[in-house]
Amino acid sequence: MSLAEQFAAVREQVRLACECAGRDPQQVSILPVSKTFGHEVVRQAMALGERRFAENRVQEMKEKALALNDSSIEWVIIGYLQTNKVKEVVRYASQLQSLDRLELAQALDKRLLQAGRQLDVLVQVKSSSEESKTGMAPEQVPSFLKTVRDYDTLNVQGFMTVAENTDDQERVRRCFERVRQLRDQCQDELGDALPVLSMGMSADFALAIQEGSTQLRIGSALFGQRPAVR
Ligand SMILES: *Cc1c(COP(=O)(O)O)cnc(C)c1O
Repeated sequence: MSLAEQFAAVREQVRLACECAGRDPQQVSILPVSKTFGHEVVRQAMALGERRFAENRVQEMKEKALALNDSSIEWVIIGYLQTNKVKEVVRYASQLQSLDRLELAQALDKRLLQAGRQLDVLVQVKSSSEESKTGMAPEQVPSFLKTVRDYDTLNVQGFMTVAENTDDQERVRRCFERVRQLRDQCQDELGDALPVLSMGMSADFALAIQEGSTQLRIGSALFGQRPAVR
């Protein structure tokens, strides 16, 4: 299948999943995850109407941003961010979805103040007990939000999560459900609007749509299989 056909197929699957879930497809966006694919592939996706792309590594984002040199592209970081990479994020990214600790918020705030800009962020929530999963423990999130509210540089829009990697659909669903409930709870308790729920990837986006996702981070279903070892 060509890239155009793959994009068309995924867009149609998302539309159908929204229909099944009784949701308006306009409320659910697709964020293409271009990690491991070159800037030529990003350019092809731009020809298909895409302008936002997600990367999990800062260095890779920077290389593609420089290669494409197109200010209409919005780069999104979705991977674990080391504090010493904050400078590049402030320079090149429009949104960070992996805000998971206070130390990182502080480092971002400092750099953003220097750069005189704001950054859209999502708080990454750990929604399963899998060892390998990063993200903030749900019980820490409300107080974290209260602290970060004082940082004018950070615009917290909602939450991101990666569900447990399992074939058990109910376990996957519960991960998404947990984060949606946390969002509702935080909105009620803090009175902040947290409209964005970045949940769902190639293998589990239909479940994520059922559980209220507003943004699907899709890589392999759009771009093809990634090399196993990088
Ligand atoms: C790679 C990645 C994705 C996309 O995964 P696919 O299964 O290829 O759709 C989504 N979210 C995060 C955080 C990722 O690292």
